[in-house]
Amino acid sequence: MQNKDIRPPFAGLSGLDVTQLFADLPTPCYVLDEAQLLQNGKILRGVQQRTGCRILLAQKAFSNFPLYPVLAPYLCGTEASGLYEARLGKEEMPQGEVHVFCGAYREREFPELLQYADHIVFNSPRQLKKFGARAKDAGKSIGLRINPECSTQDGHEIYDPCAPGSRLGTTRAQWDAAITPELFGLLDGLHFHTLCEQNADALETTLDAVEQKFGDILSHMSWINFGGGHHITRRDYDIRRLERLIVRTRDRYGVTVYLEPGEACALNAGYLVTEVLDVLQNGTTYPAILDMSAACHTPDVIEMPYRPPLYGAGDAGVHAHTYRLGGPTCLAGDIIGDYSFPAPLREGDRLVFGDMAIYTTCKNNTFNGMPLPDIWLLRADRTLKQLVSFGYDDFKRRLG
Ligand SMILES: *Cc1c(COP(=O)(O)O)cnc(C)c1O
Repeated sequence: MQNKDIRPPFAGLSGLDVTQLFADLPTPCYVLDEAQLLQNGKILRGVQQRTGCRILLAQKAFSNFPLYPVLAPYLCGTEASGLYEARLGKEEMPQGEVHVFCGAYREREFPELLQYADHIVFNSPRQLKKFGARAKDAGKSIGLRINPECSTQDGHEIYDPCAPGSRLGTTRAQWDAAITPELFGLLDGLHFHTLCEQNADALETTLDAVEQKFGDILSHMSWINFGGGHHITRRDYDIRRLERLIVRTRDRYGVTVYLEPGEACALNAGYLVTEVLDVLQNGTTYPAILDMSAACHTPDVIEMPYRPPLYGAGDAGVHAHTYRLGGPTCLAGDIIGDYSFPAPLREGDRLVFGDMAIYTTCKNNTFNGMPLPDIWLLRADRTLKQLVSFGYDDFKRRLG
């Protein structure tokens, strides 16, 4: 199978014989692509150089720390969702800043968190009141997450922190009811995170809402964090518009602008190699069972939901042979999707899913006793190296 398919998800495999490249890997396994990470890093560094903004890796999307040294030269640090990610960022990208946002911090974790984090962002005035002075005394930069109440995503309520009744971020009404001069005095910055896989037009709409609701506060702050969800490294992303918005905000309010994308850092920088275990026919449907599971290894396929790109395959009906690809688990809905192939699928065939570096390895589970896929690295020189392998003990140790 010679790769002529240079659409972005497989750009990293361009010119390689994919069948041969992955022939000896144990399946299922992830393969992280160093060259694609570098390419993403260069794009993100360009934005920072042209605007003076600071970009962080949101580790919840990609926390394969052996690759942090690859991204580190292009980024200003890491963003964490809590104690463990903050520690990971501090340990594995020690030259960078560590920022943390959590919906609510725990008393027993807070002293340790102070050892790792440089910026601590609180979700509510009450959390700011409970922990803010302690964090300030420890020399931290303090932020509050705001909710500009501006939804720019349709159909993805689970990814919309601006949905009515949201628990994420402080609305202007909540701010007015609770932010005393004393609490205000603790704050160094504001943080918002409202986007998901979006372009700069959605950011512009959101920024307008942020300015309308919180503009009077911004000039008292030293930074603003635009959160994640900026699909900056996608081919059609409007980088010039992003840069205009960063510069506009910087100049209007005299603030440092932070961005903390997860997806954009590792977009299209990984593959999931899997093998066909069985091919069935049920009426007019041809289910094929793979040795990977959507529920365990690509949970966003079910949760988001989305359809991952599959190397050499088309949408249902495009090629002569269409199959419904699913996992070996008991879950009826453990289905990746319907894909078509030029030739019939057979037991033992290998399939390669694209864009598998984000929200995958860090979200894996062992439901049904499914093994955790090994993780390999495709180095920039196109040689392969195993990063980690898993076995029965990894399954059992979590259970008792
Ligand atoms: C999820 C999240 C991010 C990263 O989002 P991406 O969609 O992966 O870019 C950044 N910051 C916060 C607070 C988040 O919750």
